[in-house]
Amino acid sequence: MDIHEYQAKELLSGFGIRIPKGGLAYSPEQAAYRARDIGGGQWVVKAQVHSGGRGKVGGVRLCKDESAVYSAADELFGSRLHTAQSGDSGKVVYRVYVEGAVAIKREMYLGLVLDRITERIMVVASPNGGIEIEDLSSNQPDQLIRCIVEPAVGMQSFQAREIAFELGIDAANIRDATDIILAAYRAFEELDATMVEINPLVESIEGKLYAVDSKMTFDDNALFRHPEIAELRDKSQEDARETRATDRGLRYVGFDGNIGCIANGAGLGMATLDKIARAGAVPANFLDIGGAASPDKVAKALRLVRSDDNVEVILVNVFAGINRCDWVADGIVQALTLDPPNRPIVVRLAGTNVDQGRKILSRSGLPVIRANTLDEAVSRAVRALGTQVPK
Ligand code: ADP
Ligand code: MG
Repeated sequence: MDIHEYQAKELLSGFGIRIPKGGLAYSPEQAAYRARDIGGGQWVVKAQVHSGGRGKVGGVRLCKDESAVYSAADELFGSRLHTAQSGDSGKVVYRVYVEGAVAIKREMYLGLVLDRITERIMVVASPNGGIEIEDLSSNQPDQLIRCIVEPAVGMQSFQAREIAFELGIDAANIRDATDIILAAYRAFEELDATMVEINPLVESIEGKLYAVDSKMTFDDNALFRHPEIAELRDKSQEDARETRATDRGLRYVGFDGNIGCIANGAGLGMATLDKIARAGAVPANFLDIGGAASPDKVAKALRLVRSDDNVEVILVNVFAGINRCDWVADGIVQALTLDPPNRPIVVRLAGTNVDQGRKILSRSGLPVIRANTLDEAVSRAVRALGTQVPK
């Protein structure tokens, strides 16, 4: 789960990292009021969307008086920002953050990520910040500082100090920079983040360090331990199909094809997608119903896939272990009885209670195309493309 810049900064501030004074606004009037409250003579009005790269597309505006703050906010509200990270449809601005402008001497990059190769938390830093990490790693790979943290001992002060030196921090600020790096690590670990980024980390003309922009991503599977983080979710920033799925406890990823897929387990789901691609067709989605899925959950999954207008054929592929084929069949019957199928549905069931499952489907009299193996299911689904529901 992603959160907004202002939320990430508030969290980091709780760990002792200095941030510019700022306030959130939902209207231009509120934005101007925030500026007055913050004081000083210059402000930055920042679109709050789940994406970096806002500065390049007009999502971050420097303002020199309150009326400029008002108009910047007025222009941003309701607009759609298309950034390098936002995907084709862009992200709509519903909130802006007004912040006191920092007199910047230097912008640096600081990021913490999970490194898949070493299976460790890795700190990535660069003396040149304010540029997206994708560009830093392709244009200036030799400038990147990398540091792996041993999980048994956590991040050590000497490691943070080394990074601070490599960033070229002024001697007077080494202590402060070390504390910032250690605090970012603590935030990452204590909040079950998968990414913490401060970009830019700024050294101001007065010689202070500030987190001027921040991004955090959290492990969805750990959100139950952090209700205060789960609360920060902003559905307006998510893909609508994926939001509906998450709200129903399903894992869904949308694609551009026309075969809607439902499977149990990520591995079987991926195998199903591969087989469809091999057969020369394109899946409309990946949907994992998980383990021990109730009939109700299966019915919800089916309704979700059917709500996608691009879907011409639905393919259900379940190899039940902890799952039960009779529950899956019950779910299919439940969904199709309420709302009769208007496109072909191919169902392959195997594993726990498969005989009961098949019986439930055949007794229902519903026009379900049955298959015994994955290959059979895929070839039947591909053949059913462009055909009507069998009578
Ligand atoms: P994004 O990464 O989405 O483009 P940032 O918050 O990093 O958004 O802003 C882009 C740039 O705008 C920063 O690199 C910095 O140069 C400038 N900027 C942002 N916030 C402030 C601020 N409070 N004071 C001064 N400059 C700022
Ligand atoms: Mg930034």
